Amino acid sequence: MPQTVGKVFLVGGGPGDPGLITLRGCQCLAAADVVLYDYLVNPQILTHARPTAELVCLGRHGRDRIMPQSEIDAELVRLAREGRTVVRLKGGDPAVFAHAHEETAALDEAHVPYEIVPGITAALAAGSYAGIPLTQGGTASAVALVTAQQREGIDSLVLDYDALAAFPGTLIFYMGVTTASHWSTALILAGKSPHTPAAIVRRCSWPDQETIRCTLGTIAREIEIRRLRPPALVVVGPVAALTRKHNWFVDRPLFGVRVLVTRAPHQAQTFAAALAELGAEVLLQPAIEVLPPDDWSQLDRALVQLDRYDWLVFSSANGVRALLDRLLETRDLRALGKIKLAAIGSGTAEALGRYHLRADLVPDEFRAESLAEALQGEAVGGRRFLLARASRGREVLAEQLSKAGGRVEQVVVYESRDIVEPDREIASRLREGKIDWITVTSSAIARSLVALFGADLRHSKLAAISPITSATLKDLGYDVAVEARQYTMSGLVDAICAAHSGGE
Ligand code: SAH
Repeated sequence: MPQTVGKVFLVGGGPGDPGLITLRGCQCLAAADVVLYDYLVNPQILTHARPTAELVCLGRHGRDRIMPQSEIDAELVRLAREGRTVVRLKGGDPAVFAHAHEETAALDEAHVPYEIVPGITAALAAGSYAGIPLTQGGTASAVALVTAQQREGIDSLVLDYDALAAFPGTLIFYMGVTTASHWSTALILAGKSPHTPAAIVRRCSWPDQETIRCTLGTIAREIEIRRLRPPALVVVGPVAALTRKHNWFVDRPLFGVRVLVTRAPHQAQTFAAALAELGAEVLLQPAIEVLPPDDWSQLDRALVQLDRYDWLVFSSANGVRALLDRLLETRDLRALGKIKLAAIGSGTAEALGRYHLRADLVPDEFRAESLAEALQGEAVGGRRFLLARASRGREVLAEQLSKAGGRVEQVVVYESRDIVEPDREIASRLREGKIDWITVTSSAIARSLVALFGADLRHSKLAAISPITSATLKDLGYDVAVEARQYTMSGLVDAICAAHSGGE
């Protein structure tokens, strides 16, 4: 029986900012069995693919071998013939300097169905992210996208410098970094003024975007002096001289700042997103992971007799999720009955909210001591407390409540374990001092980070979520650069922003 042929989607991933892929592109990724992606594509875009999808990087200039075009064409056909749904994910747009024609020709010949999903090409991103309009009434009424790549016998013959020099508008050179002195000189020799405004836009829409304004005559020198590497575009024409005092992209408070997020993977995303929204380049290195308890029996016993307790006390959002998910597996929320709920902080209270529960008590300060104090206002003597906690948590709360006459039982609702293998890329960036901030959002994370990276942590600034985390870091011999005023993730974001705005 001949197998059903799969389908190939040529998808434009956009210039770098992961938000710039289209909805259709995301749908294709979600349906893909295999994704063949270019090195220029932001790997964050791959999170739209299913966890089971096979992800294949087609190589990086100067490092791995880049797969020749004919091999890529053949691979697309081979995979589709296996009946698989294939996404060929490209930087920018698939039809702009991206071999779409070669690939679709091979697919047509093999009778493999395909679809092309456009993306935002780098030149268009320069218009929005670098603030260089591509057209301008009166001075630039046309745009030319030009490849400055020179492959022996192919592109070098194609460029008509006389026509380009006379072009009535904006010239945008792709792949022109290493060949800049050649093509800029050729344009000048063809009659274009060396004083024509120019702009080099490197890594457009990435957190390390750079824009260098110059003139046609100085492009090559700027590239050499600054040792600029691809990917970069060069815009030549009057529009390159148009500037604004502000640029929405690079003026964001944390633009150009590299921040390491160390929370457990399932909790890192919202924190990372808040930092990225402010312009930071966010790197992830979980220092701990959160796992189900080794043994559920203790929790199960507590859950069938919740009516024996007056208070159920949560000291983390993880605890809320673990306990309530387990409860909902066998019963429903009515099992909570009249029990009162206490949450150590707003994040924990919000986690309760997701289960349509409202905390009866949230202390003003988010730490165990404050929760114990706040609970004491509720008459502790003789009251029965169930504390939902991590396998390794602080004992302060239980001790203080017991001392005040409370009858305290603790139940382990999740295991918190250290990550022991650091990501190699992150480890080397830390060693080289290429990370500005390390966020330390609990004492357990502080200890794990020290075990993972030791003295390399000193090359970056440490941002601690609370005085307790700061104290742990100091005990371990590390200085803390900033501490959150509000002991929450957004408090920590504020503290880092304040350090960059010159405040505090
Ligand atoms: N299909 C892509 C172009 C691929 S050719 C697109 O539509 O954008 C690769 C060239 O694109 C690079 O050498 C560089 O000139 C340009 N490029 C790609 N991404 C870029 C970025 N984020 N910033 C500046 N130039 C970029």
